[in-house]
Amino acid sequence: MPPDERSIIHVDMDAFYASVEQFDRPELCGLPVIVGGLGPRGVVSTCSYEARRFGVRSAMPTAQARRLCPDGVYLWPRMARYEEVSGQVFEVFHEVTPLVEGLSLDEAFLDVGASLRLLGSVEVIGRRIKEAIRERTGLVASVGMGPNKLLAKLAGEMSKPDGFRRIAAKDAAVELAPLPVGRLWTVGKVTEQALHRLGIRTIGELAASDTARLAGALGRQAGVMQALARGEDDRCVEPQQAEQSIGAEHTFDVDVSEQALAESWLLRHCERIAARARERGLYGMTVTVKLREPPFVTHTRQAQLRAPSASVADIHEVARGLLATWWKAQPRPRLRLLGVSLSGFAEQRQPDMFDPVPAVRAPDSVQDRINLRFGSGSLVRAGVLRTLKQD
Ligand SMILES: [Mg+2]
Repeated sequence: MPPDERSIIHVDMDAFYASVEQFDRPELCGLPVIVGGLGPRGVVSTCSYEARRFGVRSAMPTAQARRLCPDGVYLWPRMARYEEVSGQVFEVFHEVTPLVEGLSLDEAFLDVGASLRLLGSVEVIGRRIKEAIRERTGLVASVGMGPNKLLAKLAGEMSKPDGFRRIAAKDAAVELAPLPVGRLWTVGKVTEQALHRLGIRTIGELAASDTARLAGALGRQAGVMQALARGEDDRCVEPQQAEQSIGAEHTFDVDVSEQALAESWLLRHCERIAARARERGLYGMTVTVKLREPPFVTHTRQAQLRAPSASVADIHEVARGLLATWWKAQPRPRLRLLGVSLSGFAEQRQPDMFDPVPAVRAPDSVQDRINLRFGSGSLVRAGVLRTLKQD
């Protein structure tokens, strides 16, 4: 099929983390909800549309958000809960096509070309996705549709929040023309400024500009950029790669110079990644510890497990050794950030209750069951408790 006659759907949840919080706690509906790091170095992850009215935006320092919106509800992210909802959302995607390319927990491209005969037009499929997400999660997704990734994503963005829109190939030039060039895929801040210097401010102006002159300023990417400005984009939807690594990390509000405290955090990260690995039926061989000294010097230390595992005890034993070796070698050890990840997955399979899994030790499965029932973090090892005070 010619690339520009494909049926691509872009789905993006509206204010995802904040909407999950409002759904779980209905008393927060209608209030400005800001989810992010709440310490002095924190950054806003997501904010509700009510908070956006005060000028709060994601990636903004939380301190700045507090000045703009002092009466907002400020919450730490609950990643385990967002991952759970994300799982439900992606289940909906996989019901309409296997060609799903996840961009984040709440955003994906779907190629539904092969599903049209069975399920109906791209709009019918888009509507079905939107409704199924609403029914199963209570949350609102914006859905954009188009003949390629570029137009599908822009269609969704242009109709957000609660978006639903399709841009057909024949309408692309007209629809795109008035948009600022910065909205175009591949146009970052630097390119945008370069285009502004050439007097090009809208996508329409970019499409109509002289190619030779543009190439003089931007080099070889000029041609690609003009094709995008005309609404042409031949990128494929690339279905999910196998998971490469599972990690957890934390930036400390106050640099950590006490080894025992660093070890508590390390254990907390190990519990989290081991639980996620077990959820996905993954058994990793490689443990990596990431250590950042203030301000921004980052070291990584890596070691192999004896056998593929998803057990906290196995991962922690190796991670702890790596931390201890690094710690001893520093004249004045101090950490701004500490992270752990598990990779080198030996096998990948769905967890099966009839399938004995020797690598998972009994305490882990008890912990998994309790946390599943009472919420993530309900049961943690005693060594982790010190880190919880700091949240
Ligand atoms: Mg989103």
